[in-house]
Parts: sequence; C-alpha cells; structure tokens
Amino acid sequence: MTSPEAPALSIVVPAYNEQEVLPEFHRRLASALAGLGLVWEVVYVNDGSRDTTFEVMLGLQAADPRVAVLNLSRNFGKEIALTAGLDHARGTQAVVVIDADLQDPPEVIPALVATWQEGFDVVYAQRNTREGETWLKKATAAAFYRVMQRLGGKVHLPPDTGDFRLLSRRALDALLKLREQHRFMKGLFAWIGFPAKAVRYDRAPRAAGTTKWNYWKLWNFSLEGITSFTVAPLKVATYVGLLTAILASLYLLLIVVRTLIFGNPVAGYPSLLAVVLFLGGVQMMMLGIIGEYLGRIFNETKQRPLYFTERYVPSRVTEG
Ligand code: UDP
Ligand code: MG
Repeated sequence: MTSPEAPALSIVVPAYNEQEVLPEFHRRLASALAGLGLVWEVVYVNDGSRDTTFEVMLGLQAADPRVAVLNLSRNFGKEIALTAGLDHARGTQAVVVIDADLQDPPEVIPALVATWQEGFDVVYAQRNTREGETWLKKATAAAFYRVMQRLGGKVHLPPDTGDFRLLSRRALDALLKLREQHRFMKGLFAWIGFPAKAVRYDRAPRAAGTTKWNYWKLWNFSLEGITSFTVAPLKVATYVGLLTAILASLYLLLIVVRTLIFGNPVAGYPSLLAVVLFLGGVQMMMLGIIGEYLGRIFNETKQRPLYFTERYVPSRVTEG
C-alpha cells in the first residue's frame, strides 16, 4: 500500500469531553474551508475524554477521509493534547490550532490563511469581545496579560489571544523543537518569533458542553498535587508566608495605634514580635518562590515523554 500524499494544511483540534459539539464543529469547519482551494486534513485529539468523544471522532473519520484521529493514553491537559496534535499534523505548508467548543469560529480560518499567504508565518486570531464569560474571568485574564507583558521582556505576548492561530510549516517545526514539560503554549508560540500578524474576530460563547477551566478546578488541581508530587508543599510555604506577613503588618498597625492611644507599659516587646513574624513570613514566601522554580526543574529533569498515544488513525487525504 502506498502512503497517501500529505495535505497542505492541517487543522489541529484538542478535545476533552466534547461529544455534543464535535459533529457541529466538523460540519462548520468543513463548510468554512470549502472554498479555500487547499488540500486540508483535520487532526482530532482525544485527550482522555470520559464521554463518547473518541467514538464520535471515529465516526467522523469513517465518514470523512480528511479526518485524522489521535487518542491519547489518558487526559494530559490541553497544552499537551495540542502538542500531540501538532506532532501528528501532516500539513506540508501550514497548521491551524483551534478549540473544539466553537468559541473560536472556524469561519475565521480563511482570513488566517489569507494573511499567511501575504507572507506571515504566525497569524494569531485576536478577540474583539468575550461574550458569555463572567466579569471575574475577564478581569483575571486582563490582569494576567498585563503581568505577562511586564515579565515578558523581549518576547511579546499579544493580549486577547488564545491558542487559536495559524503557523507556517517552518514556524511549526521551530515550535516542535521546544519539548519542555511545563508547556505554556501562548508563551511558546510567542517565543519562537517569525513574522506575525493579528486577525481580529468576535469570540462566541461555548456552543455546548462546559468549560474545563474554572477556579474550583484549579484549586482542586493544586490540592491533588500535594498528594502526588513533592513540589506542592513548597507552594503552601508561599501562601503561609504571605499570610503571615500580612497578619504581622496588621498586628504592627494595631500596636502603633494602641500605643498612641493607651501608651505602652512594656516597651519593645510587641514591636519585636511583629518584626520577627513579618520577617519569618517574608522568608517563607521567598522559599516558596524558590520552590516553585525548583519543582519545575525537578519535573524537567525527569525527561519523560510528553504523552503516550493509544491510537493514531491518519487521514486519507491525497494531494490533488
Ligand atoms: N481541552 C483538552 N484537554 C483538557 C481540557 C480542555 O483537550 O484537559 C480542550 C477542550 O476540549 C477545548 C479546548 O481544550 O477544545 C479549550 O478548552 P475549554 O473550552 O475548556 O477552555 P476555555 O475556552 O475556557 O479556555
Ligand atoms: Mg472554550
């Protein structure tokens, strides 16, 4: 059997529990790309879903030769699922990364492709609005980008940009050389450089299913970490230290006010206590921060593969 020729464009779609939305996603993707004039495939990555997402994907694969399906051995999280999909993208010219939940409208892809054809290697889709998201999520996202911009240095992290973007083959090859375990994809996309341009669009609310990112889940995630990794107690030190420092500052304030009003029968002792507590808190906080980095070094030194593939069914796309 001769292996089929590679498509020009790969669409990579990580999905975790997206059974409701996938058929609709695929329908909209196929119609959005219909007039593109490029041979394309779509790589659906099943990131250890606990519903029938994988079966839905296999159904799409059976019905449409342009569909490839990658099944990971368990849930690895979006960043790694995305990387797995990019590893398996056969597109010889470009690749597009898009969420399955239709928050990134597939109808924007032709605009990304057009800008890429003008000669840009990275074309990222930038949101105009964040419909259907809480003010808290909007506020935390805004604060996040502001902080990242401060810390980013030479690497420019575009605001209001998710993972939804197009990469040329050479930009993708550069990205795939970065194999770190702690994969902050937005940062990695920015780090590789290459000529980049934004395309603006309106971000829609989720079409179906629920978001996998919420504050409660993030909190539980950190608790989980305490029992399974040795890194997390260092994190606890960060917050214990911060709390101690805050409480000590309040106590200091109380002592000052009380002394001003009532005088001070035992000179020196209360202020001493406040200083000791404050410094102790700050020290623990600093240790915690060092621990954050140490933990990451620990994870990287294990040099584990990023993921394991349970099954890969390539697309049956042929050129021309
Ligand atoms: N996703 C994934 N693995 C996960 C969590 C999410 O592959 O562990 C996928 C999910 O199916 C979706 C995309 O990543 O296609 C974005 O997830 P979500 O919509 O939950 O995130 P948000 O849009 O709220 O940032
Ligand atoms: Mg989403």
